[in-house]
Amino acid sequence: MGKRKKSSRKPAGPRKRETLESNFTCLFCHHDKSVSVRMDRKEGIAQLFCKVCDQRFQSKVNHLTEPIDIYSEWIDAADAAERQNEASKAAGGGSSGRRGPFGSDEEA
Ligand SMILES: [Zn+2]
Repeated sequence: MGKRKKSSRKPAGPRKRETLESNFTCLFCHHDKSVSVRMDRKEGIAQLFCKVCDQRFQSKVNHLTEPIDIYSEWIDAADAAERQNEASKAAGGGSSGRRGPFGSDEEA
């Protein structure tokens, strides 16, 4: 009884594309499902963009990353960018004294 049953290989079937697409509501223009997340697991990259207002975001993915993760990363990134923007606005008249090249040219 040393006969080993050869396990028949399962037919691979049509190769599934590794990219997944999902649609979400845009943070910026608030259109429903205008944001697409395109995941390319082979490349390890996910790209998010809004087809209405053309916002873009790109992030890295691994085999566990879901489109919703990219979406929430985008929210975090947008949130952080906004906070940074406000922080630099608040620090505008501060002590760091970082001046642009437009110091004295105020006449329009
Ligand atoms: Zn948008």
